[in-house]
Amino acid sequence: MKDKTANAFLCPECGSEDVKDVLQSCVSTVVSDEPSGGVLQWDTCGQCHMRIPAHISERWDGLTIDQAKREWQEVYRPKRKR
Ligand SMILES: [Zn+2]
Repeated sequence: MKDKTANAFLCPECGSEDVKDVLQSCVSTVVSDEPSGGVLQWDTCGQCHMRIPAHISERWDGLTIDQAKREWQEVYRPKRKR
């Protein structure tokens, strides 16, 4: 049985454990009016292709899955146009 308290990737969007890509953010690409400006590492989900801050998808500092999902939805998740 897998222990999900450690740094295993888990997508807060679709729940997939497949990580497709890991990006180190480049300072020159930072958009200043977005909260994502402070994120240093991004994981791309292999299933839904969302780009997720690594501290959320890997739950650094003991973040729970519920906390990670909430932070993702409230802060980082791109707003969809209707
Ligand atoms: Zn996903």
